[in-house]
Amino acid sequence: MSRLPCSGIREVKAGPPEFPEFHSLYLLCFDKAMMIDPGPSNSVADLGFLDKLDYVFVTHPHPDHVGLLKEVVERFPQVQVLVPPQSLDLFLYPEKLNSIFSVGELLQIFGPMEQVKANFREVKAGEEVDLGDRKARVIYSPGHDMRHISLLLDEALFAGDSLGVRFNGVSIPTPWYDKEKFRDTVREALSLRPRMVGIAHSGLVGLNHLNELLDWRTLDPDQLRIDGGSRDEVLRLYLGING
Ligand SMILES: [Zn+2]
Repeated sequence: MSRLPCSGIREVKAGPPEFPEFHSLYLLCFDKAMMIDPGPSNSVADLGFLDKLDYVFVTHPHPDHVGLLKEVVERFPQVQVLVPPQSLDLFLYPEKLNSIFSVGELLQIFGPMEQVKANFREVKAGEEVDLGDRKARVIYSPGHDMRHISLLLDEALFAGDSLGVRFNGVSIPTPWYDKEKFRDTVREALSLRPRMVGIAHSGLVGLNHLNELLDWRTLDPDQLRIDGGSRDEVLRLYLGING
């Protein structure tokens, strides 16, 4: 791992030991420093080079995105944690989230979420976050999760799980609670004309990813077959889950 000081936008692979590539956290290092979606509690991320952190931005409160938050807050106790509206309870009482994610093997893969006490602030769509020499804007991005928010910084959009994933050059929607909202979120992302999009489980992608997500086959999992099998089969393969 490089020990270069953080500057500008930096992606750090932060998945669990078996799948380091599974999660990307993003660091925005300007006058003020921000981390987006720390990752799971068993993350391999080595953040020893980080000497300051002003904000953590949480796109949505799922264990694979915020499990590591407790450790980050212990290291940077002054950090302000920006979270979606109506999500605060989930950080204070994580049992609810853990029980939802105990279905299947998700919690074994990512590790459980522990209670986090921090300087939390709920942020709404349209709100600006001051990074000193520049400002980032909060975007509402429902579909995968009804609370999901993203962050636009100049021409970079940090989208958590709101804009699918991309494996082997194939765009795949994240599981949604509302397909139409997911589609609207992709359309809105395109209208923002970002030059790059940071998604949580595949790293930085280009606009072609968004256009391909709107393809009808992508939004109809039964119709989607890619090299190696159906969407679910490929996802399972990637996660290393057998069964
Ligand atoms: Zn996720």
